[in-house]
Amino acid sequence: MSVLSLANVHSHYGHIHALKGISVEVNEGEIVSLIGSNGAGKSTTLRTISGMMHPSAGAITLYGKDISKMEPHAIVLAGLGHVPEGRGIFPKLTVKENLEMGAFTVTDHRLIQERMEYGFSLFPRLKERLSQYGGTLSGGEQQMLAIARGLMLDPGILMLDEPSMGLAPVLVELIFDIIKTLNDKGTTILLVEQNALMALSIAHRGYVLQTGEIVVSDTAENLKKNPLVQKAYLGMD
Ligand code: ATP
Repeated sequence: MSVLSLANVHSHYGHIHALKGISVEVNEGEIVSLIGSNGAGKSTTLRTISGMMHPSAGAITLYGKDISKMEPHAIVLAGLGHVPEGRGIFPKLTVKENLEMGAFTVTDHRLIQERMEYGFSLFPRLKERLSQYGGTLSGGEQQMLAIARGLMLDPGILMLDEPSMGLAPVLVELIFDIIKTLNDKGTTILLVEQNALMALSIAHRGYVLQTGEIVVSDTAENLKKNPLVQKAYLGMD
């Protein structure tokens, strides 16, 4: 079943044509990775899906519903979680308050507590730092918090923008293990990464974005063997 579908989507920043008609499908239970170099349009794709900007043409559907003109909070409520580039946590709020903000529409305290506990089961370190300010967490802990916050509304699909950015290799592995675990537990994932090797190691399928266009799409296995991908994104000759 299709969870998220982009059909011929265009996006502009003023006169800059950042997405030039991209089509992407994410099916239930998949990890789909979007790879590409700096400025290819990866973050723009996620921003366009999450309603932070609206497409200038094309269709975006979530569980069959047109979301292309909806506002970000309504899209979140429709089942899409977004962990933005740079994590976007609130530095002057505590870990607990950051998580509560993630559950902004939930009034049932037991449910909030339950979802927090789910986040702590994935990232026990967050529980030890409940009253610490977000801004004083390490980069890896901030990424953990951003993911746990993204789960507070129990999204069917979670989009992650460069979760490995700025993290030491051991933390990158931890974060990718958690993404895999989340997927095993039923969350569909759209993952944007510059670290193509890591992304393709956990993804089922992938798309390669170059200057606003999808140039290749295939299974992760095939992408790893694709000469263009090997040369441009995996550092092989
Ligand atoms: P990176 O990994 O560097 O974030 P990316 O693939 O996510 O790269 P985008 O941030 O989506 O790339 O940028 C796509 C294009 O849109 C780039 O040419 C970029 O300069 C342009 N762009 C991005 N944000 C803006 C903005 N706020 N105003 C104008 N142009 C922008």
